[in-house]
Amino acid sequence: MPVHPDHRTIQMAFVGAWVTLLVFGSFYSRLFSPAAKERLRPCMSVLVGAVFLVFVYLLYGPATFALAAIPVTAIAYLNCRAVKHCPKCAALNQPPFVFPIPRSCPRCGNDLVISPLRRS
Ligand SMILES: [Zn+2]
Repeated sequence: MPVHPDHRTIQMAFVGAWVTLLVFGSFYSRLFSPAAKERLRPCMSVLVGAVFLVFVYLLYGPATFALAAIPVTAIAYLNCRAVKHCPKCAALNQPPFVFPIPRSCPRCGNDLVISPLRRS
């Protein structure tokens, strides 16, 4: 028998999911190495977008989900492309206007561009 929670329950689950992501994000930013942060960043970006879209679907239905999926997917993609952790000083480099994508760390000057040979 399928369970249909009411909106109040879904909203409380939404807040709980964001608090959980906030706590994990705090540990992630303080405890993980720069290399681990860089490996997990795309997964985290997709995970956060997917969690948001699940709650949009549960609260507002498929039509709103379809509308929300477009900007959420674009934001996740841009986060994967434009935001980088410096492998030297672990600074999170977020360009304020998305473009241009940072090529060097503003804190230490280290190169942020990873060659295709180093990605594997
Ligand atoms: Zn740096």
